[in-house]
Amino acid sequence: MTVGPTAGPTAGPTGATGGTAADDAAVRSVAIVGAGLSGCLLAALLAARGLAVDVYERRPDPRITGEERGRSINLAISARGLDALSRIGLADQALATALPMRGRTLHPRSGELGYQSYSADGTRAINSISRSGLNAALLDCAEQAPGVRLHFEHRLTGVDAPSGRLTLATPAGQVDAEADLVVGSDGAYSAVRRAIQFSDGFDFSQDYLPVGYKELTIPARNGNFALDPQSLHIWPRGGSMMIALPNTDRSFTCTLFWPKVGEGSFAALQTPQQITDYFDREYPDAVPLMPTLVDDFQYNPVGSLVTVRCRPWVKGRVALLGDAAHAIVPFFGQGANCSFEDCVELDAALAESGLRREPALQRYQARRKPNTDAIAALALENFVEMSDKVNSKVFQWQTRTRHLLERALSGRYVSRYELVSFTTTPYADIEPRIRRQDLAVGAAAAVATAAVAGAVKAVLTKRDR
Ligand code: FAD
Repeated sequence: MTVGPTAGPTAGPTGATGGTAADDAAVRSVAIVGAGLSGCLLAALLAARGLAVDVYERRPDPRITGEERGRSINLAISARGLDALSRIGLADQALATALPMRGRTLHPRSGELGYQSYSADGTRAINSISRSGLNAALLDCAEQAPGVRLHFEHRLTGVDAPSGRLTLATPAGQVDAEADLVVGSDGAYSAVRRAIQFSDGFDFSQDYLPVGYKELTIPARNGNFALDPQSLHIWPRGGSMMIALPNTDRSFTCTLFWPKVGEGSFAALQTPQQITDYFDREYPDAVPLMPTLVDDFQYNPVGSLVTVRCRPWVKGRVALLGDAAHAIVPFFGQGANCSFEDCVELDAALAESGLRREPALQRYQARRKPNTDAIAALALENFVEMSDKVNSKVFQWQTRTRHLLERALSGRYVSRYELVSFTTTPYADIEPRIRRQDLAVGAAAAVATAAVAGAVKAVLTKRDR
């Protein structure tokens, strides 16, 4: 059986990117593999350009079957994600079901809670949102767009990059399809990427963190939130941590980020007694709020955290997008935000290239790759900040000083966190800008110190005369 518009030129000699001689033919039909967050957003955007879009998803429709176990339950969506969602008219709907978090509440082993606001004025927020709710809203939006067809229980098993031919496994047997453009938005363990990974010139690396994650629950207490719902809660413990994000049902989803093996690891705690003893020692204020702690810990899976880097993202008629192109660790809450930006950029590149495939795909890759490399590095660094540095008095003083500078030098000094979470500044521009700002502040401080020293010296000289 064949589904999807059979399209375009037949396969010819392969070019530099593994494509055909007709690579700059106009794109009319698109096959998107993966109806996760980015696949659905891209489908809605491309349909608005008048393209015929077929979306192939290996799972059954999650709006009918419910959420998949083992995925994170909620996500922090910030400026970049909202900007992308606004382009398909979904930002307000997403915000209406989200809970704004304006800062971090820090839970030490003992003593008082700490608080660090995310923005200088304390008002800007990242938004805790249900992953399954957002995915369902995106599926609805894609489904309603003229020209989009969703195919559930269609698992991609093969793709031929030069011709854009796909093979998919379905409950009814194998299905073949073909499109002018095939987008792999099928996640960190992408089958589309695997299909082009072993071709000549394809660079690929996959780095697992020794830290994994497991989700636990803090249910509502007497119908109310058990913790401040306007905060992201962190229990920083050096090389590991627990975080908690609020849900609209007034529960919190906690995520443990712990080593997988060794001391203080998931593997080290086996019996209920070991689990409760450890949590009583490390997270004493959370334990009374977690009636299902032992069951959650014993039965919820441990997920892996991986950074995937590859190049090229573009081969023949195939392009990679979202986690398939650049899975990152979740410590800056940017994986989905960044994947949404990919969709906007691919859509813009197609429009700017008059829908011609080859220039559009090259433009998309050239614009996005440096940015996704930059956020991958920032996300890895942020684990150290969240799990360890936030405890340090020096770090707390630095954060306060940065916020002071931001207020004093409005728009000219902006912290890294604000640039990542509250602007759409390209990720690759952030570190150079931070360096320039720090140099300018350092130079101003040196001039001020020299001026004060000069004045003091002048006063002392005058007095000695
Ligand atoms: P996915 O959402 O993984 O979707 C891929 C889709 O492809 C799935 O539906 C899958 O079923 C389908 N698929 C897979 N294989 C096939 C196949 N062979 N054929 C057909 N379909 C297939 N990001 C944030 O922005 N903020 C956060 O706070 C945040 N928190 C996170 C917390 C954790 C613990 C983790 C692990 C990640 C977090 N992320 C966060 C990252 C975010 O989840 C991902 O970046 C985002 O889901 C990527 O979207 P995607 O569409 O590229 O991939």
